[in-house]
Amino acid sequence: MGSEPGDAPVALSIEGVSVEYGTTTAVEELSLSVREGEFFTLVGPSGCGKTTTLRLIAGFEAPDGGSIAVRGEDVSGVPPEERDVGVVFQNYALFPHMSVAENVGYGLKFADPPGGVSRERRVEELLELVDLEGMGAREPEQLSGGQQQRVAIARALAAGPDLLLLDEPMSALDARLRERLRMQVRSIQRELGITTVYVTHDQEEALAISDRVAVMRGGRAEQVDSPQAIYGRPRTRFVAEFVGDNNVFAGEVVGPAERSGRWAVRVGSETVTVGSGDRELSVGDRVTFCVRPEAFATGLDHNRLEARVESAEFLGDRTRTRLEWQGRELLVWTDDRPGGRVAVGFRPEDVHVVDVEST
Ligand code: ATP
Repeated sequence: MGSEPGDAPVALSIEGVSVEYGTTTAVEELSLSVREGEFFTLVGPSGCGKTTTLRLIAGFEAPDGGSIAVRGEDVSGVPPEERDVGVVFQNYALFPHMSVAENVGYGLKFADPPGGVSRERRVEELLELVDLEGMGAREPEQLSGGQQQRVAIARALAAGPDLLLLDEPMSALDARLRERLRMQVRSIQRELGITTVYVTHDQEEALAISDRVAVMRGGRAEQVDSPQAIYGRPRTRFVAEFVGDNNVFAGEVVGPAERSGRWAVRVGSETVTVGSGDRELSVGDRVTFCVRPEAFATGLDHNRLEARVESAEFLGDRTRTRLEWQGRELLVWTDDRPGGRVAVGFRPEDVHVVDVEST
């Protein structure tokens, strides 16, 4: 495989889909399209509609409006067992009284093994794929949490589905195991080239594992982009603050700076120089912009802000330092002692404008 899914045909398309529970709108006019072989992640805070979206794709939920198509075929009215999807839920426990092999074989309940192989051979192949060769005779309780979730993934893949849907499959595992399992999941997905929709509330996991990420908020997709673009070019303040640490500033454009594409912006009693990127700015605009903690440095001459060091947490590879500047907190990765004063700067090109209000 190894080919990038960027130009692949659309495998799943969701168009204008809404779901309401009484007065709660769980999903609102959501439109997304996922390409063949893509690892696509829905990330967002609790209650933003991630699970409901996955249940819609699986067919456990019917939309109140809009449509869902898999490989161009409208799947409305197709029951879950007739959709070619494999699903792994956070708490979708294995059957405790069945062996590992029987659990995986259960995934073939509604279908014959693909490629005309026997059920036994198919189960062996799948156990090999998830790195559990020779463990077929074990009971689920004789496996670690991570191994159990790999059995659940093997079961979901048994019938050779068009889509793999994973809903927080790692949230019950400890941090180290999650990191290991997410690499394994990604490598299985790449090996099979299977189109995958993954749900997590963990933004770091979303960036680490995905080809593309949809950041969801209030039942809508606020931004759909590559992990690099979500992190480096957030389109809204919500995305800027939800994904990674960020410093968000609000100010007023007071004039163009000496270089084109740069503007002088008044923030509190300071004037800073801001690169506008692809945003059009004019004097008088109210702008919201963000600067990542890693963009701040003590040795920079640009945009020097005099601040007080409030706290410093040593994290091993860096120190998370909180500064107080003009009554607000700044988060930076410098290494300064609490109680002292420090001047930190940031370059205009490391600014990212997320909102512009013209007056
Ligand atoms: P979490 O990360 O907490 O699992 P989520 O992003 O997956 O959240 P959903 O489970 O899709 O969110 O829920 C979206 C909204 O719909 C929430 O406000 C939730 O309370 C509501 N909701 C979900 N299922 C139902 C239901 N069966 N009946 C009523 N309201 C529901």
